Amino acid sequence: MSVLSVDNLAKAFQGVVAVDDLSFAVESGEMVALIGPNGAGKSTSFNMLNGQLTPDRGSIRLFGRDITGWPARRIAREGVGRTFQITQTFGSMTVRENVQTALIAHRRRGFDLFSRAVAFDPAAADALLATVGLSEAADRPAAQLAYGDLKRLELAVALSGKPRLLLMDEPTAGMAPGERQALMALVRKIASAAEGPSVLFTEHDMDVVFAHADRILVMNRGALIAEGGAEDIRNDPRVREVYLGG
Ligand code: ADP
Ligand code: MG
Repeated sequence: MSVLSVDNLAKAFQGVVAVDDLSFAVESGEMVALIGPNGAGKSTSFNMLNGQLTPDRGSIRLFGRDITGWPARRIAREGVGRTFQITQTFGSMTVRENVQTALIAHRRRGFDLFSRAVAFDPAAADALLATVGLSEAADRPAAQLAYGDLKRLELAVALSGKPRLLLMDEPTAGMAPGERQALMALVRKIASAAEGPSVLFTEHDMDVVFAHADRILVMNRGALIAEGGAEDIRNDPRVREVYLGG
């Protein structure tokens, strides 16, 4: 059974079609890139997948269960994680406190008032920090992190909910090419671990996409125009047309 199946998904904003008849699946352990030019509909698709937007048409299934139109909180509880930017507020907390806060939030989710009294495992935060390579920065305020390390912290926070599917919309935006490769190599390692999440990500750097995606989905004007491995996509005339204009 697919981790995620999307069928005939569509969304328009005041008559402007953002996503039009989008269908694809993500399998267990896969790292899938969703690429396409600006305005192709990638972020709108992600926002429907995590329940921030309600689709106009179509269906979204998670492990076969129809989650179409579910609120974001409930979809998160079902195991769909996403990366959020660490805001200024969280910047004043230490790196470890950020992960601890996320772990506590996930623990409370879906439980009653009394779950507050349940202590969380302090080792869990340190284990996550080790996973993303931030052990040495654990006691520093998040605001002091270099940009690439902040992205690692955002990843640790996303992983704190033990997602089965991790959605990452432009996770490497603003990073230098070398940093992008390093971050996505780390994500790939996490995804390929036993019990690791499947990953769906958007990315503009084609070197990163070709290096780390198991499979590539190409969107243009709200619909898929190509799908396949790096070689298929590199040689696809429709993809070349969209990216190179001819
Ligand atoms: P991408 O992430 O691939 O760059 P988006 O999903 O952000 O594309 O946008 C797809 C299309 O939908 C664009 O034409 C964009 O202008 C439009 N769009 C996205 N969000 C909104 C919104 N909230 N209101 C109106 N139009 C939107
Ligand atoms: Mg976008």
